[in-house]
Amino acid sequence: MKRRFAKTAALFAVITILLSFTACNDRTATGEYFDVFGTTLYIEGYSAEEAQSAAAVMREAELLLSADIPSSDIGRINSAAAGESVTVSGLTMTLLLKAREVYLLTDGAYDPSVYPLVELWGFAPGDFVMGIAPDSLPTDGEIAAASELVGFDRAFSLDADALTVTKLTDGAKLDLGGIAKGYAVQNSLAGFSDETLVNLGGNIGGVGRDYTIGIGAPREYTHSYIGTLTLHSGECVSTSGDYERYYFFDGVRYHHIIDPSDGRPADSGLISVTVVCRDGALGDALSTAIAVAGEEKGREWLDALSADHPEISAVFVDGDMNVSVYGRGFSAV
Ligand code: FAD
Ligand code: MG
Repeated sequence: MKRRFAKTAALFAVITILLSFTACNDRTATGEYFDVFGTTLYIEGYSAEEAQSAAAVMREAELLLSADIPSSDIGRINSAAAGESVTVSGLTMTLLLKAREVYLLTDGAYDPSVYPLVELWGFAPGDFVMGIAPDSLPTDGEIAAASELVGFDRAFSLDADALTVTKLTDGAKLDLGGIAKGYAVQNSLAGFSDETLVNLGGNIGGVGRDYTIGIGAPREYTHSYIGTLTLHSGECVSTSGDYERYYFFDGVRYHHIIDPSDGRPADSGLISVTVVCRDGALGDALSTAIAVAGEEKGREWLDALSADHPEISAVFVDGDMNVSVYGRGFSAV
């Protein structure tokens, strides 16, 4: 029941983005939908076989990466005691190392150890029901206690050669929800031999030609856009915002992107951040980090990355719906 609500919300986001794509695409709809990562995977691919194989690879990744599956690598890490070393797959280690890179780059604004706070605010996959608020909000004491468990380098140690993760703080937990979809989309692109667009719950990548992607208007519940982006072959786009997983409590919006520095839903002034990057995992985690820390910090990080990632670009939307752009490729409607 809970899952159905979450998936419906995700599907809405997918459709919002894809309508613009379809309008710019002269092929007839040949896409396929799959259920992956608790959201909807849509592949508009040249070959159904390739699409099915990409979905199968993502389903295997989900069995390793989901915080909601007790037997997954992340599930086993989360239930381990302090001092225990958990052996993980190469994929999980690759993602944890990438997550640590973004954690360090963003001074912990992106922090994969934020899960105790995600759970506390009611946004863990098994708990969250779109449109339904919890009975009460966390107390200051509960937020302080959960915050003690957060801090990737403080709470976890990685051994990349031995493929082990050791928990240093009892109760600490990991969550790759802010990075894994971007990784999975980028990873899938190599498997397509011709023009293909992959959309995993709003994380999109394309190969074979340029694509025009619409960025949904954050406060609109119809299919409207603030503008479009050009996505070149091999690039991925990720959007993070306060309007995909949220609830209202006493008239105030609480959403799923948590600021690890104060333990509360991020309040950076931005309500939507879109990042384009060839490195899908980096773009995904960076969009989450910028949603936490705001545009000024975001521009600093984008500047620091642009030598290695000349294609990197971003679109910021603030609470008054002002749009500003870093890099190229955005056209306002
Ligand atoms: P993003 O901004 O990319 O990420 C936000 C998410 O990252 C939050 O939801 C939280 O999980 C985490 N986060 C919050 N703050 C921070 C921070 N400061 N730093 C780092 N991370 C942060 N959802 C379901 O409802 N049911 C499922 O069964 C389910 N299974 C999943 C399985 C896997 C393997 C993964 C990776 C995710 C799963 N999800 C599931 C979650 C869902 O698919 C999305 O990951 C989630 O909705 C957030 O994605 P986003 O792109 O909207 O936001
Ligand atoms: Mg993200």
